[in-house]
Amino acid sequence: MSDDLALRPAVLDRTLCGGRIWLPEDPGYDEHRLGWALAADLAPAAIAFPHSVDEVIAVVRAAVAAGYRVAPQSTGHGAGPLADQDLSNTVIVRLSEFTGVKIDAEAGTARVVGGTLWEDVIAAAAEFGFTALHGSAGDVAVAGFALNGGLSFYGREFGLSVNRVRAVELVTAAGELVRASADENASLFWAVRGAAGNFGVVTAVELDLLPFSDVFAGILLWDRRRAAEVARVWRDWAADAPEQVTTSLRVFSFPPLPELPPFLAGRDVIAIDGAVHADDAEAERILAPLRALEPELDTFARIPSTGLVAVHMDPPEPTGSVSDHRVLGELPDEAIETLLAQIWPELPSGLLCAELRQLGGALSRRPHDAGAIGSIEGAFALFTLTMAPVSAAVEPGLAAVRRAAEAFEPWAAPARLPTFSENRTDGGRLFGGARERLAYETVRMDPNRVFQAHHPVR
Ligand SMILES: Cc1cc2nc3c(=O)[nH]c(=O)nc-3n(C[C@H](O)[C@H](O)[C@H](O)COP(=O)(O)OP(=O)(O)OC[C@H]3O[C@@H](n4cnc5c(N)ncnc54)[C@H](O)[C@@H]3O)c2cc1C
Repeated sequence: MSDDLALRPAVLDRTLCGGRIWLPEDPGYDEHRLGWALAADLAPAAIAFPHSVDEVIAVVRAAVAAGYRVAPQSTGHGAGPLADQDLSNTVIVRLSEFTGVKIDAEAGTARVVGGTLWEDVIAAAAEFGFTALHGSAGDVAVAGFALNGGLSFYGREFGLSVNRVRAVELVTAAGELVRASADENASLFWAVRGAAGNFGVVTAVELDLLPFSDVFAGILLWDRRRAAEVARVWRDWAADAPEQVTTSLRVFSFPPLPELPPFLAGRDVIAIDGAVHADDAEAERILAPLRALEPELDTFARIPSTGLVAVHMDPPEPTGSVSDHRVLGELPDEAIETLLAQIWPELPSGLLCAELRQLGGALSRRPHDAGAIGSIEGAFALFTLTMAPVSAAVEPGLAAVRRAAEAFEPWAAPARLPTFSENRTDGGRLFGGARERLAYETVRMDPNRVFQAHHPVR
């Protein structure tokens, strides 16, 4: 046998995952290879969709035996950084068809299987009077959100979502199912809470729920003419806002698309949205300085907790978009001017939206028993976004969002949020002081580098 043939990985068994596995030469490969983030052009050696723990074990063992790497995924919402990596020798194991949730109302916990989406977890939890530390979109998976940090509209009161994780079950590089919690495999439990995709395919997550099932939430919206005033008032308000409230401020330049609602199509607007976990009177008092700016739209009201995933108006379907991100330590007037100049420059910027998420409160406090990621230092998370519906739009789109994010360097902190980092990002910025120990843990758990995470620790 020539050296060339000896090095080439063996062909994967087509009966794995009940036949739900596609290789590049198969019809259907193109249809299945992309995740939710359609601009991330993933071209793996194979993509497999297991439906059970046994199928996960079988596909991991088969991939390892045949000389492939394994990239675990749930939905592909965070596929961007994977598209920047070589996947030609990698099997993507996507758990979107292996789902389920069980609520333990007495313990106030949820057991979430495989690639289950947040919308299914919060619907199940609401039946028992609970909700959870989910993000702005209901179709993001619990595994990829919570185990990479997870910034919620309940975050300033309850912290990062990852701190609510009580146990994780995962299939390791040895093809074995392992449970990690504070009492079992404690080092692995520390590591998966921040960098899970480096350590195995997570088949279950157990998390603490929040003991309420309604919330005061909504959106306020103004025309671009009010933008500078609104942004300054929000910045000053955010500095003293109680921890029960978490909001985002976004500036938009909407194209005149027929699928957009008439109050947004073709318009330049500024919006503030989020959630207040307080009774009506207290919530009204907290929001009063923002409402005094007389928005043209104000939907803040008490809603069922299941409705919070609609407030941010994230796209309901898989989307082609590109983004960039910074954490800002402060937001002086000059930074606000930069924000407005980036979205509405004299020449078209190509940017659809720039967002600032309010940080602080419990988000900045690391619990004593936290994992690799437990808090985020900084005052605001900046996210710049534009659409890239076809592959030719990806490069110019990336240039636009990068240019916009770079303009905020004077106020940027070193850290980055893994869930907001949709491009290849320096591990030191993502994992900070935890990176060295994470790298050590991967050597211990996965010496042959089987697992290929979207954010590799080494
Ligand atoms: C519309 C939209 C709204 C969003 N809103 C928020 C928000 O409010 N707050 C916030 O913090 N983030 C938000 N995000 C970012 C989102 O949380 C991240 O992209 C997250 O990683 C997605 O998780 P996923 O499992 O759905 O995606 P995937 O792309 O499937 O997973 C991302 C990575 O996580 C790891 N992973 C996922 N599943 C597993 C598994 N079963 N086993 C092992 N590793 C796994 C892998 O390394 C994988 O590459 C949003 C993203 C989008 C597109």
